[in-house]
Parts: sequence; C-alpha cells; structure tokens
Amino acid sequence: MAMRGGSRARYVTVRTLWACALAIVLADVARFALVDRSSVGSGVLDEISHFATGLLVLGALRSPLRRPFSTGLLAASVLIDLDHVPLYLGASWLTAGAPRPYPHSLLTLVVVGVIAAASSGRVRSFSIGALVGLIAHFARDTAEPSSGVALLWPVSYHTVSIPYFIYAAAMGALLAVGIWRARSAASQSPRPGVDAVGGAHGRRGYAPATWG
Ligand SMILES: [Zn+2]
Repeated sequence: MAMRGGSRARYVTVRTLWACALAIVLADVARFALVDRSSVGSGVLDEISHFATGLLVLGALRSPLRRPFSTGLLAASVLIDLDHVPLYLGASWLTAGAPRPYPHSLLTLVVVGVIAAASSGRVRSFSIGALVGLIAHFARDTAEPSSGVALLWPVSYHTVSIPYFIYAAAMGALLAVGIWRARSAASQSPRPGVDAVGGAHGRRGYAPATWG
C-alpha cells in the first residue's frame, strides 16, 4: 500500500518490510539446508533474499518506488548475479581463482560510480541507486557461510567474508528503520486519519500504537 494524503509517491510499506524479513529468514534457512548451494534452486532462493534485501534498504531510505534511484537499486541487487551464467554454462573464465565471478568486486563499484559522476538526471539517479544496490548485494554475499567475495580483484584474489549474524543484524536494523520512517511519515500525513500503511486513525498526527 502506498502513502496517501498529499503525495502520489508510493513507498515500501510496513507490511512489505515484514514480508521481506520473513522471506530472507525462510529462504536462507532453506538454502543453508541444501547440500549443493551451487544448484539452480539455491540460486533462486538467494535471489529472493537479494531482492528482499534491496527492498529493506529502500524502506530504510524511504525512497519512493518507481523512481530511477529505486529502480537502479532493485535491479542491481539482483542482476549483478547474471555474471554467474557463464559458470553455469561450463565456462570458468569469469570466475577462476575466486569464489564468485570477477564483477563481484570493488572495481564494479568504481565503474558504476564513475558513470554516476559523469552523468546527470535520470541516468545519474539510476546509477547511484545501482551503486547502493551493489553494495547491499556484496554485503550479503560476503556473509554467506563458507564463501565470500574477492572484493579486491584484480589486485588480489583474497576472499573477504563476514559472519552471517552481522548481515542478519543489519537486516534487522533496516527493518526497524524502515518501519519507524513509515510510521513517522504516517503520523505527519496531511490527510487526516490516513497513514502510509492505509490505516485510518481518526485525526491528524495520531501515532499508531502497533506495527502491522
Ligand atoms: Zn552475488
């Protein structure tokens, strides 16, 4: 549901934020239980979690949906993993020596950052969103148990990894911030009695007591 009352912009709702958190938990529990994490099924579960991670970031940033920034963020959150396709087809030239394909590195952030700096308007907004989405993606990848990311490629093949609980804590923090921001926006809605999650509260400025 979208924010109403004075703005046509649509945002990630509280309900969607909770759904994202639940999706990450369920998908990761299922994925980590799989014997073969390189399978297509594991990949699908991973992309669900990546997309949900992107939505949690959007919610915390309170970025309106259907804007270039948000589109770039969500697209990059998932599409960077297209670089796995050559390996699925049997070609290791994009992965040899690293746990993930070479575009999973800071070099990609630099390239996208240069595009953002050199562009303007919608392209710039899209690129900045893509940059944020890539950072979110790499953060999740570095937290995958028994894996990691060669962030410094081509300078080094050193694998960077962080404990999964750090990623989980970060998602919890994004969830909390996203809910808080949605509720704050709802309480400031210029339309009496209507908040960002579509609930009626009777008068302007009412602060909901419960989270939905
Ligand atoms: Zn990835």
